[in-house]
Amino acid sequence: RQDQDPEVTLITPTAPIATPTHGGRAKCLQRLVRLDLPVPRTVALSFDTVHRIAKGAMPDIRAILDEYPAGALLCVRPSSEDPDWGGPGSVLNIGMNDALFVEFSDSIGPTAASALYKRFVTAYAIHVARLDPDVFEEIDAPGQEGLSEVLRCYEEEAEEPFPQDPAVQLAEVLRSMARAWEGTTARLLRQAKGAPMDAGLGLIVQEMALGVGDGECGSGVLQLVNSETGLPQITGRYLSQSQGREALKCERSSLFLERDPRGPSLEEQAPDAFRKLKEYAALMREKLRAEMQIEFTIENGQVHILDGVRVKRSPRAALRIALRLAEDGIISRQEALMRVEPRGLTELLHRQLDPEAERDRIGGGVAASPGAATGRIVFSSSEAQASAARGENCILVRRETSPEDVRGMHAAVAVLTERGGMTSHAAVIGRGLGLPCVVGAARMGFRHNSKRLVAEDGREFGEGDIITVDGTSGQVLAGAPKMIEAALDDAFQTFMSWADEERDIGVRANADTPADAATARNFAAQGIGLCRTEHMFFEADRITPMREMIFADSPEDRKAALARLLPMQRADFTELFRIMEGMPVCIRLFDPPLHEFLPSDRAGLRDLAEALDLPVSDVTRRVESMGEYNPMLGMRGVRLGIAVPEIYDMQARAIFEATLEASRDGAPVVPEIMLPLVSACREVELVRTRIDAVAAAVRNERGREFDYSLGVMVETPRACLRADEIAQHAHFLSFGTNDLTQMTYGLSRDDAGRFMSDYVQQGVFAEDPFHRLDSDGVGELIRIGVARGREGNGGVMLSICGEHGGDPDSIAFCRDAGIDYVSCSPFRVPVARLAAAQLAI
Ligand code: PEP
Ligand code: MG
Repeated sequence: RQDQDPEVTLITPTAPIATPTHGGRAKCLQRLVRLDLPVPRTVALSFDTVHRIAKGAMPDIRAILDEYPAGALLCVRPSSEDPDWGGPGSVLNIGMNDALFVEFSDSIGPTAASALYKRFVTAYAIHVARLDPDVFEEIDAPGQEGLSEVLRCYEEEAEEPFPQDPAVQLAEVLRSMARAWEGTTARLLRQAKGAPMDAGLGLIVQEMALGVGDGECGSGVLQLVNSETGLPQITGRYLSQSQGREALKCERSSLFLERDPRGPSLEEQAPDAFRKLKEYAALMREKLRAEMQIEFTIENGQVHILDGVRVKRSPRAALRIALRLAEDGIISRQEALMRVEPRGLTELLHRQLDPEAERDRIGGGVAASPGAATGRIVFSSSEAQASAARGENCILVRRETSPEDVRGMHAAVAVLTERGGMTSHAAVIGRGLGLPCVVGAARMGFRHNSKRLVAEDGREFGEGDIITVDGTSGQVLAGAPKMIEAALDDAFQTFMSWADEERDIGVRANADTPADAATARNFAAQGIGLCRTEHMFFEADRITPMREMIFADSPEDRKAALARLLPMQRADFTELFRIMEGMPVCIRLFDPPLHEFLPSDRAGLRDLAEALDLPVSDVTRRVESMGEYNPMLGMRGVRLGIAVPEIYDMQARAIFEATLEASRDGAPVVPEIMLPLVSACREVELVRTRIDAVAAAVRNERGREFDYSLGVMVETPRACLRADEIAQHAHFLSFGTNDLTQMTYGLSRDDAGRFMSDYVQQGVFAEDPFHRLDSDGVGELIRIGVARGREGNGGVMLSICGEHGGDPDSIAFCRDAGIDYVSCSPFRVPVARLAAAQLAI
């Protein structure tokens, strides 16, 4: 039905072309026209028009053709709102037919004319008439012979001759492109890239600048920066006598743009055109306020600008490009901050494979923790530690990892496992440590008995052989390819300092060890928001005194065990305070699910019996008596502190003594002490009384003053509901969203992995609630906790310290809920800083 003429607009400096109605390409071309750049004549079709075309209506094709000189060739290109959403491929040389072929043969020669015609027929056959691509792509005869064959094939396959009327050709191209956009596959693909359900497509019809013929003719692409590094560098290619993006496809015969020792360049071949191009590119950068990749054609020495799209860029390039645009005064600092995707920053925080490096791939799996590292293969954690002791970098290769491997992981520079996925032990620990990690490399052979690693192609590697694990791409490579260092360079630092100026929510790190604390400082965390003290006892030489303490039967035994733990804890805290140099350090008192500290197998029981000088049967009985049906809901957190108060007494003493120690040579330290898993106000009162008493005792003994603050982890639903009375006894409340999520959903955080992907796939949960805070349910409890906490204590400081603290969407929720700071794993601190800045802009 043609009841209404769909809208068709010739792009002129004054025509109103807007992105939401015509798409980004049309908008960009209009800007180029306004800048008076040599853009071929272009007509834009709006989203509505294209939608109607897909439904069967057709705009007045003659009117479109009348915009162009008779005999002009045209091309049609897609113009979606965001170029990343893709779209149907461009079709070039529309209008070409037998009659024009004769004319072109006279003007530019039969070979060039044949190439134009053949290209059009091939594209039309495949994309418009939907004929078998193999038939056409196989025709490689050059010149007129190739053309005749393409035309003959078309007629044979389509059972009609190739259409000669330019109006028919153009209408059919428009129709096929409009319909391709509305197809289900295309829609799913773009939705995966963030396009909305009803994303529209505009089309532009542009007069061809030919790129073939007499004089210097050709086409190419140019940009002023390197897409990987973001540093200024003229990149792109040019190919004489070519169209479209052929220059990129034919690397060997194409030219460099700028003079280059590796081969001939456009600068040498056509210096004037090159100079003009550079000028145009610089103008586009300034006026379009972005680094653009320019598609251009040279026709008999004259430059035409066909199109511009934002350059593709790695996260590191995105940061540098945005920074330089702001430094050059082209965009504001705020805009620069908005242009970098926070999650992409993780890639900058690790060493990466040089994108130019040669890769000798021997296998692959899930890219579980970003960054790349090279080292010698080891097959066990003890070998990893031995290797680290010798100062040799090693890659820990395991079927899968378990808590016993944590020390081996610390000693290795990367981890490779046969089994596992994104949330397997190796993946989670790897990300926490910032350790490159590839898991689930099931197509490689892991022969632990014979100490061989078999590549996917059958090559064998033994202990000591050098391999590289690329946790960013999931590849495993032989040897030591070239790397680029983590990009914590000046550009990164400056950019992040801009972010810090904008944000209005604090960012601290969860850090348990001196190494974590150093990383946190390096990434400019504003303190430690959660130090899980039980994690300080995972090391082999420490787990025994911890077990003795848990095991002690009599008050005397327990006292003795605690006396051994005290100096260790004091030294730990002193070091943390020193590293953090006066910044806040929030120490959480023990929250061990007890079973994690008890031996689980015979060998472990024997070791423990030896250490305690008890018969194995005694130890076994006691371990059994301490067993809990549901340890995550058992004698955990503050419950342990109430049942066995001497434990928290010891920790409080260690904290206070360390406070005095660290304040001796630096700014006075004000420790924050936090109680885990609180559900009742009385728990806080009881523990607080004892801690105050310990503080008084230490002040007395040492004759020195110090301050401290006491806070409560809000990680049970009841604590949220009773936050008003709890806050009356606390200086701060920190929402432990891991446990709070577990308890709100009644979902075991350790077992949810088994069905989580089914749940997410079937849309039961939009997202794993352990990764992205559930703002509806868990969020409502937090909002209640915030409101009631402030009611009970107007000055109470509020934070979150669960895994969600590093997730940009969860940070948005926290800011909205009025939380003062988030605390996340050290490697996510920069992500959180940028995400927080973007929220404030
Ligand atoms: C939490 O529950 O959110 C939390 C931070 O504590 P943990 O993960 O140690 O239980
Ligand atoms: Mg918790």
